[in-house]
Amino acid sequence: MRIVVVGAGVIGLLSAVQIVADGHRVVLVDQADIPFAGSTSSDWHRVIRALHLDDPVATADAVLAHHQWLRLQRLLSTRIYEPVGALHVLPADDLARAQQVLSGAGSGAHLFGPLSLASTYTQIRFPDGATAVLEDLAGVLLADRVLAACRGWLRQSPRAELVPHRAVVAVDADNPAVRLADGEVLSADAVLLTAGAWSRGLLPAPLADELVLCRQSMVFCGVPAQDAAVWSATPPISTFGTSNGGWLVPPIAGTPLKLSAASACRVVTEVGDISTPAYWRDHLVEEFAPLVRGLGADWLTGGRDAYYLMRRSTGGPMVAVLGERVVSYAACGGSSFKFAPLIARSLVRQVSGAAAGAEPVLSPTVP
Ligand SMILES: Cc1cc2nc3c(=O)[nH]c(=O)nc-3n(C[C@H](O)[C@H](O)[C@H](O)COP(=O)(O)OP(=O)(O)OC[C@H]3O[C@@H](n4cnc5c(N)ncnc54)[C@H](O)[C@@H]3O)c2cc1C
Repeated sequence: MRIVVVGAGVIGLLSAVQIVADGHRVVLVDQADIPFAGSTSSDWHRVIRALHLDDPVATADAVLAHHQWLRLQRLLSTRIYEPVGALHVLPADDLARAQQVLSGAGSGAHLFGPLSLASTYTQIRFPDGATAVLEDLAGVLLADRVLAACRGWLRQSPRAELVPHRAVVAVDADNPAVRLADGEVLSADAVLLTAGAWSRGLLPAPLADELVLCRQSMVFCGVPAQDAAVWSATPPISTFGTSNGGWLVPPIAGTPLKLSAASACRVVTEVGDISTPAYWRDHLVEEFAPLVRGLGADWLTGGRDAYYLMRRSTGGPMVAVLGERVVSYAACGGSSFKFAPLIARSLVRQVSGAAAGAEPVLSPTVP
């Protein structure tokens, strides 16, 4: 089978790897470089956190994803995952439930009371009385390394063709094919659209209208040399229990400290540049100064904005079945990177007509 994949972010690249691993041929097309520094997937890191407190199924899927990433790391022969756990500040009343949900999914968890939390992560000023859970089967994915390793692996395969700098402008859902900006048509047995934040341009109007485009700012920091040891033993913190929805990724494997918050997300109309406006850089420094001891503008080494789509009705991703062998996956913010191995496997099974496996089935939207 020959499958055309449009978009070489994490979803497209892992789908292409899956297609080759399944014995098919893949043509992976991107409007820019492969990988593209302006894609949402391109960054120092992304986090796997398994705990979804009110959703044991998503928690179990995330634990499965943790194991899949370790498997992928072996396949790609590159260090792409630092399984250092993930820390969540939660109300004391939720700790036992969090531990139960994680243990039900096969993950260990360590609980922190206010004193042990403050004395373990001395560089963080947690809100008064904060308690937390540290989950085991979680950690930091080195995002840019993931993308580069997938490209390297695909380049070695005679069954993979990489086509950078060719934008797709139209999709034939009845006779699987895509039309490129220069008029060339690529026909295939199946087409997978994984165009990330650009997906609306390839979808029929009713589906495109269901997607909201968001932009989020992140800042990168260098930490003082005297704090390097405590930072190197710090896991990603997915929530501080603060109303701004702040989170951080520690400096790990040579990466900088990364800070962002839900309060740095806004709805926009178009995908634009990825530089972080001064207003949002200052906003993040202001939000984190009370949480990270010593943090000031002098810590900043850079910033980056990223775009994502969310489905208006659910806030999550959208899977759209456009034809018998043409499927689109519009990823969301927050969790599509960590689930990418499961998403890719599910999408490839769907377009190739293979029997469904044990992995979660994505609920399709049929136009
Ligand atoms: C600030 C932020 C933090 C996040 N943190 C996490 C996290 O910690 N954990 C997690 O699991 N997830 C996280 N996510 C979500 C995750 O990063 C994204 O959902 C995921 O990277 C999207 O991947 P993608 O492959 O769908 O899209 P992208 O990476 O954007 O790739 C899409 C590709 O399609 C190409 N393309 C688009 N249109 C066309 C066209 N017409 N023709 C040809 N090529 C085209 C683009 O050039 C691009 O290369 C975060 C998202 C944001 C914004």
